[in-house]
Amino acid sequence: MSTTNPVVKCTVEQCTHHMPGNQCGAAKISVYNNEATGTSQTSADTCCKSFHHRKTIGDMVGALHNANWGGVITAGMYDGKQITPNVECFVANCKFWETGNFCNAGSITVTGRNASKTDDTDCETYVPKS
Ligand code: SF4
Ligand code: SF4
Repeated sequence: MSTTNPVVKCTVEQCTHHMPGNQCGAAKISVYNNEATGTSQTSADTCCKSFHHRKTIGDMVGALHNANWGGVITAGMYDGKQITPNVECFVANCKFWETGNFCNAGSITVTGRNASKTDDTDCETYVPKS
């Protein structure tokens, strides 16, 4: 069984988990396929299901619940250390996907300019299996 976990870079500033330096402060994120089709052909079809819009109070509670406090504290103590969540991924036709819903990429980049819902976010690192 794999224990690989990519470093997560994220540019989705509208998410409550987003932190300076394009880091994600969530304890765990889940990457999903396009909800309508259940598959992904391009990175635009993928999304970060753990996205929580900053403006919604209900979502703030969810975000606090999923906060990676250990990671935040560690980063504060060791200046410059990368904070990164555990990643589970359901995009089984990505070449980085591994059985058990792991991602074996060295790092992933989550994007979504002006995102207001999970569908607006993408795993930019997605590459279809050949
Ligand atoms: S969109 Fe996903 S990867 Fe980006 S900060 Fe939010 S939870 Fe983390
Ligand atoms: S790179 Fe592929 S396997 Fe890794 S999180 Fe993104 S879509 Fe999932």
